[in-house]
Amino acid sequence: MTAFSLEGVRRSYETGPLTVDVLQGVDLEVAEGDFVAIMGPSGSGKSTLMHIIGLLDRPSSGRYVLRGREVESMPDDALAALRNEHIGFVFQSFHLLSRLSAWQNVALPLVYRDVGRSKTRRRCEAVLAQVGLGDRSSHAPHELSGGQRQRVAIARALVGEPSIVLADEPTGALDVDSGNEVMELLLALNRERGVTVVLITHDHAVASRCARRLRLHQGMLREVPSGTSSR
Ligand code: ADP
Ligand code: MG
Repeated sequence: MTAFSLEGVRRSYETGPLTVDVLQGVDLEVAEGDFVAIMGPSGSGKSTLMHIIGLLDRPSSGRYVLRGREVESMPDDALAALRNEHIGFVFQSFHLLSRLSAWQNVALPLVYRDVGRSKTRRRCEAVLAQVGLGDRSSHAPHELSGGQRQRVAIARALVGEPSIVLADEPTGALDVDSGNEVMELLLALNRERGVTVVLITHDHAVASRCARRLRLHQGMLREVPSGTSSR
């Protein structure tokens, strides 16, 4: 089954008198259970594309269908609900709230769902245990290493049981070993739970571990055949 598809997706930004055409007709079909790497130079529109896939932004034109739902015709509140149900986000700089403990950060996506407090806490502790942080749930982000913070962010992405995880350079701020741990975790989620993963990365070693690789260049997305470098 198709997780999502884009057809002729364009996105332009107006900045003063200038129009920047960032995405210029992106076609992409991702099957459920796929593990896709998106590469491309800085400024090529990778984050713009991720925001569209994640329903944080809309195409200027073109078609986007997520799990059979045509996004164009949906109002913003319906998109927010669809996003909350289906998508988990992981960012390069973790985006954890510093005043909240690990489990409270993990709980954030559940705020919009009708889950009681004790059930929420139990669920968060269970997901933290799955990412290897069962003994860190009361720690504040500043009491954790970079790799641990990213694992908290992954737990937060997973707590609502999304079908798709979007990760924007999730290893970009980490040392090699912590980056490898984060990759292992994402690969295991994909393999064991069938979560569809779209991962943006600059790192060829990271991309080489993904089942499918694409490159964004000059507003267009192209498949990178396996076994070749995408430079
Ligand atoms: P990448 O993630 O590949 O580095 P981005 O998607 O962040 O690239 O940005 C692509 C281009 O779009 C850049 O030239 C950037 O300056 C521009 N851009 C991104 N977001 C905005 C915005 N909100 N307003 C205007 N221009 C933007
Ligand atoms: Mg980016």
